[in-house]
Amino acid sequence: MEGSHFSLLENVPIIVLAAGHGGTDPGAVYGQHNERDQVIQIVERMAKLLRSWGVRVEVAPHSHDTHQTIPHINSLYGFGDAWVIEVHRDSASGLSNDDASRRCGCYYGTSLGSRLIGEFVRDSMKGHGAHSNTWARPDTASNFNSLAWIRQTNQLAHLLELGFMQGSNSNAHLMFLAEIGAKALFEAFTGREANENAITESTLETSVPRVYSSYVSESALSRGSFAAEAPEQLNAMLDAKRSLEAAISALAKQHKAEPPFSMIARQAYSAEEAILPSSADYAPLAESRDNQNDEEVLRSLARAHGILPAVEQMIAMRNSSFPHSRPRYWGVVNFSRHSSKKRLYVLNVSEENVKSYLCSHGIGSDGSKDDGIAEKFSNKSGSHCTSLGIYRCAETYMGSNGYSMRLDGLEHTNSNARERFIVMHGAHYVSKKYIKKHGRIGRSEGCPALDHKFSTKVIDQLKFGSFLNHWTK
Ligand SMILES: [Zn+2]
Repeated sequence: MEGSHFSLLENVPIIVLAAGHGGTDPGAVYGQHNERDQVIQIVERMAKLLRSWGVRVEVAPHSHDTHQTIPHINSLYGFGDAWVIEVHRDSASGLSNDDASRRCGCYYGTSLGSRLIGEFVRDSMKGHGAHSNTWARPDTASNFNSLAWIRQTNQLAHLLELGFMQGSNSNAHLMFLAEIGAKALFEAFTGREANENAITESTLETSVPRVYSSYVSESALSRGSFAAEAPEQLNAMLDAKRSLEAAISALAKQHKAEPPFSMIARQAYSAEEAILPSSADYAPLAESRDNQNDEEVLRSLARAHGILPAVEQMIAMRNSSFPHSRPRYWGVVNFSRHSSKKRLYVLNVSEENVKSYLCSHGIGSDGSKDDGIAEKFSNKSGSHCTSLGIYRCAETYMGSNGYSMRLDGLEHTNSNARERFIVMHGAHYVSKKYIKKHGRIGRSEGCPALDHKFSTKVIDQLKFGSFLNHWTK
C-alpha cells in the first residue's frame, strides 16, 4: 500500500477503541465462543500495537454494554476530538472456513468522507491479509439499531467486523485479525504505510496522528479551509445534507411538528441518514468515578434540601429500569416552591454538592391566578401545564429558544413530553431582574425554562442520561 491517499487531513489526536460488546452483553454466540470475549482480546491487542507505533489510543471500559459506551465516550470526547472505532466479530453461516476466518468489513457513516475512509480501511485490510471478499458498507445496511452510535455526530466513528466465528477462533488467529485491524487503522489515521520499516520510522515523538474526517472536515469548511481543497466532495456532502434537511422539514410541516428534531424527523433520520441515537441509547452516562454505590451520597444531598422523597423515587426508577446507570448529575424541580425561589436542584454525585436555580412552570399550571404557584399538572397536549414525574434527559439541539434539551417522560404522568416539545431551555423571563419587577418569574408552555445565564451549563450537565424529577411535596 502507498499509505493514505487522503489529501484532506485534520488533526485528531486520538483513536478510541471499543470492544463492540462488554459488560453483560455477550454479542454473537457460536458454540462455546462469544463475541464479547474475542473482541476484548482483539481490542487490547490492537491498542498495544497502535501504541507501540506511536498512535495515542484509549480503550473504552469493557465493563460497559454498548449502550453505556456511547454516552461514556460522548462525555469524554467532543466534536472532532477522537476517532472512534468499535470492533465486532460475528457469527454467520454458509461461509467456507477460510472466508469466515479472514473476511473482514468496515461499516461507515453516511457522509462521503466517512465512506472514503471505510473504503480505504477495507483495501488496507485486504493488503494486510484479510480475505478478498472483505467489504465496506454504510451502517444503514447493517439493520442493527445497536450500531446507532456510529451515527452520532460527535465523532467520526467507524465499525470494524473482523472475521466470523464460524472460522478459526484460535488465539493466534485473533491476534492476526488484531494486526490486520491495527495496520489498516494506522494507515488511515496517519497517512503512513504500515510496513515494518515505516512503522519503526514513524514511531513515537514525531507522530502526530491525522485523519481525514468528514465531520471534522465539515467544521473545517466553516473555517474556510475545505472548500478550496475539494470542492466536489464538499458539494456532494452539502447536497446530501441539504436534501435530507429539506425532506425532514417537509415531513415535519406535514405533521405540524417542529423540525428537525420531532419524532417524525427522528424517524426520518433513522430511516434515511440515521444521525440521532434512539432513546434506548441515552442511557447510562457512566462515570469513571468508581462510585457503584451512589445512593447514600444522593440521599444525604437530598435531605439537606428537603427533596429526599423525590430522590428516592429517582433511585427506585434507576434501580428498576436502568440498573447500570450511574449519572453524575441528578435533577429535581420542587414545584411546591414559589416560582421566585430557586427550585431546580442539580445534585452532583461526584463532587457531592448541590446547585439550585430558578425554573419556570407552564402557564396552564397556575392559569389566570398567575401567582407564581403551580397547582395544576397535566400530561395533555395543549394544556400548557407542567407535568410531574421522572424524565430521562436526552439529546440537545439549537431551537427557537437557543440551546435546548429533549426530555423523555418515563411515567404515565409525563409520557407525552417529547411529543409536546417539553424541553429544557433558557428564557428571558426567568431571571432575578424579572422577579424584581413582577414578584415571580414568567411562565412557559410546560417546559422547565431556566435563566439564560445558567441554562447551557445545566443542560450540559444533565444531557444524555441524567434523571430529572418534576415533583411536588
Ligand atoms: Zn457485534
